[in-house]
Amino acid sequence: MAPTQTDLGSAPTALPKLGFYRFRQLDERVLLTGQEGSWMMIDKGEFAALQRGDLGGLETRLREANLLDRPERADVAASALAKRRPFLAQGPNLHILIVTLRCNETCAYCHASRAAESDLSSDMSFETAERSVDLALSSTNSDITIEFQGGEPLLRFDLLKHIVDYTLEKNQKARKTLSFALVSNLAAMDDEKLEWLVENHVQVCTSVDGPAEVHDSQRKLVGKSAHAEAVKWIRRINSAYEEAGLDANTYRVEALLTTTRRTLALPREVVDTYLELGCRALFLRPLDPFGFAGRTAAQLAYPIEDFLEFYRTAVDYMLEKNREGGEILERFAGIFLTKILSGEDPNYLDIRSPCGAGIGQVAYGYDGRVFTCDEGRMLSEEGDDTFVIGDVKTSSYRQLMGHETVRALAVASNLDTQPQCSSCAYQPFCGVCPVHNHKTQGTLFGRTAESTLCKLHMGIQDYLFRKLDQADPDVMAAFAKWTTVRPRDHYLHRAEVR
Ligand code: SF4
Ligand code: SF4
Repeated sequence: MAPTQTDLGSAPTALPKLGFYRFRQLDERVLLTGQEGSWMMIDKGEFAALQRGDLGGLETRLREANLLDRPERADVAASALAKRRPFLAQGPNLHILIVTLRCNETCAYCHASRAAESDLSSDMSFETAERSVDLALSSTNSDITIEFQGGEPLLRFDLLKHIVDYTLEKNQKARKTLSFALVSNLAAMDDEKLEWLVENHVQVCTSVDGPAEVHDSQRKLVGKSAHAEAVKWIRRINSAYEEAGLDANTYRVEALLTTTRRTLALPREVVDTYLELGCRALFLRPLDPFGFAGRTAAQLAYPIEDFLEFYRTAVDYMLEKNREGGEILERFAGIFLTKILSGEDPNYLDIRSPCGAGIGQVAYGYDGRVFTCDEGRMLSEEGDDTFVIGDVKTSSYRQLMGHETVRALAVASNLDTQPQCSSCAYQPFCGVCPVHNHKTQGTLFGRTAESTLCKLHMGIQDYLFRKLDQADPDVMAAFAKWTTVRPRDHYLHRAEVR
């Protein structure tokens, strides 16, 4: 196990020339980070000298990293922080509509607690959908993404089409830059739906849990292979994008992995599955504790250390594939590297400070209840309504944004005040999840030292900083690509379009 900050003793208290910094030992090296996310790595010996007040030959590097105590330091840090956190002044961009809780697949870990396909009581009404869109368009954010979630949204294709039409019509007045995203298992796709989705520029995201035997063992589709259906439609959608003249490196179906105990033995096979599908990105996500995953944990869950071992092996293999000319990035790495290398925040709502609950995203349940975020509504399906902030029939946008739970989550996910995070070298790049804390520890603020999410984020950043320190040219070239924000113009609808 890597030594921690405490292995090196307390930070110096009287170094006249060093400014504020946090540090973390990684093997024989020490990472220093500044308030705004500037950083540098030095030897343990150099660090010991710094602690004695001896800057040695490090003064220039320390100045460049804004780690010296000098008059302009605060202004430099303030403008870097403003660049890093523009989302603080924007309001919620992501609006998730649960158009039905019904699903045609049965997944062992279903985080959404799906309803039976025949259970029409969990369908969203047209009126609830329209009111949800009205609230979404009231956001102060000029960019709005409407995301269709479930259950399986394709079972409500009638409603999905109506929502797109209604939103575009209302946007003549609201004048937002809009995009639509569909999260689907693709098993209910057909040619007509596909044509409409491509014509209407709806981005498609699906799930692929690795090789067919793993996917099909945990995602059941009556009479068919869920994996074969997903693969068939991923290929068809990607072909449709190519036929429409879109750049194949940019416009692909996004697929997400949910890692179960079975997946842990197959890091390379998972990567190969995604490469064979022509995917350019792979999001190596551990199992969440929400929904059915709580009940099936005895079969599916694992220690987070085992996931990190899987993660490192899989990403090493992805880097090998990139070295050979392949094109595939890991999403967690892309999120952290963008923050570490570009000084910008990709606005991934679950890893930012404060997190996106309410102030970055809002989820609208099929019954009209409004939640701080998708995970908050997942908990509600388990009978815990802590994260309900209103109802589309009665709540105004202002009431939702000013709700005490939104304010509590913004405070609870602010890393400047979190015990342990406030002194962690990864604080400028990291995020905590109050819903995860609430579910696993019974407290919004959480006990970071015991948090599996903290262990996950720390383990991934340890891995990335070791790689950055080694500075292998091929790895650095891959990392540079992974931080690139890809254009998504095809998915954007501007008010002038119609
Ligand atoms: S509370 Fe957790 S799931 Fe919800 S937005 Fe924040 S980090 Fe994401
Ligand atoms: S969550 Fe963990 S890794 Fe992230 S800043 Fe807090 S202590 Fe550090």
